[in-house]
Amino acid sequence: MIPNRGPAVLEVSGANDLPASAEVVVIGGGVIGVTTALELARAGHDVCLLEKGIIAGEQSSRNWGWVRQAGRDLRELPLSSLARRRWQALAAEIGPGLGYVECGIAYVSRSPEQADRHRRWVAEATRLGIEAEIADIRSLAPGLTTDHAKALYLPGDGRAEPQAAVPLFARLAIAAGATLVQGCAAFDIERDARGVTGIRTERGTVSTRRVVLAGGAWSAPLLRRSGITLPQLKVLSSVCRTEPLTEEQAQAFTPCLSLGDLALRHRVDHGLTAANSGTVVAEIVPDSLRHMFAFLPGLRSMIPGLKLRLGRGTVEELGWLFGGAALERSLTRHRILDPTPDARALSRVLDRLAERFPALAGLDQAQAWGGMIDVTPDVIPVISEASTLPGLVIGTGFSGHGFGIGPGAGAVLASLATGAEPDVDLADFRLARFREERPQMQSWL
Ligand SMILES: Cc1cc2nc3c(=O)[nH]c(=O)nc-3n(C[C@H](O)[C@H](O)[C@H](O)COP(=O)(O)OP(=O)(O)OC[C@H]3O[C@@H](n4cnc5c(N)ncnc54)[C@H](O)[C@@H]3O)c2cc1C
Repeated sequence: MIPNRGPAVLEVSGANDLPASAEVVVIGGGVIGVTTALELARAGHDVCLLEKGIIAGEQSSRNWGWVRQAGRDLRELPLSSLARRRWQALAAEIGPGLGYVECGIAYVSRSPEQADRHRRWVAEATRLGIEAEIADIRSLAPGLTTDHAKALYLPGDGRAEPQAAVPLFARLAIAAGATLVQGCAAFDIERDARGVTGIRTERGTVSTRRVVLAGGAWSAPLLRRSGITLPQLKVLSSVCRTEPLTEEQAQAFTPCLSLGDLALRHRVDHGLTAANSGTVVAEIVPDSLRHMFAFLPGLRSMIPGLKLRLGRGTVEELGWLFGGAALERSLTRHRILDPTPDARALSRVLDRLAERFPALAGLDQAQAWGGMIDVTPDVIPVISEASTLPGLVIGTGFSGHGFGIGPGAGAVLASLATGAEPDVDLADFRLARFREERPQMQSWL
């Protein structure tokens, strides 16, 4: 049993043995890798997924569980619409265990500038056929004490239970014929003059001509071994859940709710998932310096809530500069990246909850956990073939909002991996953008 201080993740019984070969190998058992494997297996492909720890041990079980289109970068909207259709189909197939509920998502407009951004986003999204509105917050959250009246609101957005969703998708992938090997770290992508030839793992090599890298926070160092640069950093975000609410308390609000420094959603266990959404911590590592200029414009807009520090990761990642063995040790030491949550950031969460919702005063915290979010400079993912390594497809950098968009990303990654035409134009997500231009982030929220 791998120690894990995060949410209790539903178990997945995968394969014990590594196959000698596979048509496609997927690296990473988070929402991106698992939904890719599911799509591939259902389309009749021979797919093997490698996960160094357990399915959904990292970001994919630690997130808030918001399935959101609200306020997204406009470039992501076609993909998030595809994802919503996939969530609906998967929910119909799996049933209530997925916890998928279209309860709406609301971002309270807390300043005239933010209200203006929200209005402009609604106009853009409506033009793209998405149901979005500026709503009266009191009707959505009758228990909320606030001076602000309006919110950006998407009634079709919702939530799912992260600790169950990805394992349930993984079970479907296995049922469709995918081989999922847990406790097996991929160390390197092997190649010849034509491209990928296999994946070297801690348990031997799997021969393949096609690989999808969906390694979350670990993608950049693995790519570097193949001479590919991906500007990707990690930030720590801290979350907690509360004890169950009474039926009366649960009436305080309906949608997933952002109040700027507080994010809330209802859970199937009748508690709340709550976070201090304004605060993240980043360790200074060699990549912080390597990619400083690419990240600076985006960092500026995050600075009020961004804390930089030196830590264990600083020393560990310095070791990666001196050869692959150190990275291989890290991959097997951290079967689950399980950072200590930021106690300070969380200490204010229940106080804020009580201030904003008097009926929820006195709720106890039942569990707290941390999650390392992988971010790109423009805060949108990389979904791209690697031009310098034929056969490699990259799906990573989902920058804090990959859970909701995940099933859509899995669908297009499966297309890329098999040479089919993806359902969505992926030009904005190509890896080369970081080389060709100065990628810009869009801030609508
Ligand atoms: C606190 C927090 C809150 C969030 N809230 C939301 C939200 O409300 N809504 C939303 O849409 N998104 C949210 N996100 C973001 C979302 O969780 C991520 O974008 C998404 O889960 C990323 O999925 P992934 O598959 O890319 O990565 P991960 O889930 O991190 O999975 C990557 C997997 O790859 C494995 N791996 C890596 N390298 C190797 C290797 N070499 N060999 C084998 N295995 C390997 C890892 O062990 C890991 O299991 C949040 C994230 C956090 C941390």
